[in-house]
Amino acid sequence: MKTEIFEIKSSDDEKIQIAGKALREGKLVAIPTETVYGLAANALDEKAVRSIFAAKGRPSDNPLIVHISRLEQWDFLVEKIDERAKLLAEKFWPGPLTIILKKSDVVPEATSGGLKTVAVRMPSHPIARAIIEASGVPLAAPSANTSGKPSPTTAKHVEKDLFGKIDYIVNGGDCSVGVESTVITLATEKPTLLRPGGITPEMLEGVLGEIEISDSVFNKLSEDSEAASPGMKYQHYSPKAKIVIVKADEERYCSFLSEVADEKTVALCFEEDKEKLSFVKTVVYGKEKDSFSQASSLFDSLRQVDEVGAEIAYARFPEMSGVGLAVFNRLIRAAAFNIIEV
Ligand code: AMP
Ligand code: MG
Repeated sequence: MKTEIFEIKSSDDEKIQIAGKALREGKLVAIPTETVYGLAANALDEKAVRSIFAAKGRPSDNPLIVHISRLEQWDFLVEKIDERAKLLAEKFWPGPLTIILKKSDVVPEATSGGLKTVAVRMPSHPIARAIIEASGVPLAAPSANTSGKPSPTTAKHVEKDLFGKIDYIVNGGDCSVGVESTVITLATEKPTLLRPGGITPEMLEGVLGEIEISDSVFNKLSEDSEAASPGMKYQHYSPKAKIVIVKADEERYCSFLSEVADEKTVALCFEEDKEKLSFVKTVVYGKEKDSFSQASSLFDSLRQVDEVGAEIAYARFPEMSGVGLAVFNRLIRAAAFNIIEV
């Protein structure tokens, strides 16, 4: 397949209409959002949705998030929008929060991965919003990477994984949040956080009161388990190199690396550590006490680990509070839950 790449700088660019038309016709278009790049298709067109799964190599039971640009579309996609959902949308939309409710009949099971629920989000990225508007349909859009690889935060990442497999790549610059949206389900008795992201548990509790946090946020699920969020049971975010998370302060981390490092080793460290690690290759993922910087660079840094030819990367343990919970959640999956304490 021929993949056309174009750059769109603003939401009034005329190329927005080309992307919108392609989507209406059932084509696949990678689009920038504030979280990561999404691989979009008409969420109501079963054939188009199936081609997303094929291009990504995504297991068909892993449901897609449906992206909307106005609230009326949400009404149409779900059975009922309850008070809690309304409050969340008022506070956090447009933005990096995905809300799960019971689906209406218009949502194909291909989109919901066979579930009776549907995940919906209204992104804040102006180009994403404009493309949804131009298409005139809600857009299913999982991360625009090959399944299992680190999620794409630049158009280059998308090109690396999906060139020749999709119709268009819209380059709208780098993604700001850098990790995928927070996913909360309201289809269970108690609101439950299924995936941490840019909207933190504390922010959600500020609106809803106490929420549950799914086990899958912290722990490995087996592939045959009935996961509340099917995506959490699959291998994720993995570069070719092996990732090991090292629980230690800076001093112990650096001295551990001085013992184990060889030419195939990378220190996946914070900016502040770099100076003390002159004896080993380094890839930086943000600053030590700044979870936002870690989130926005994590996926690019995981890809860099392979680009510098490492076989093993020792990662510093991230802060787990606020947005740090999302960083931790992605990094432990990239590391296949391999954490050591030194
Ligand atoms: P991605 O599209 O790559 O950001 O992944 C979407 C995430 O949302 C995956 O972890 C899915 O399992 C989860 N998800 C989407 N729809 C649902 C749903 N209806 N119920 C539970 N989890 C969902
Ligand atoms: Mg993904």
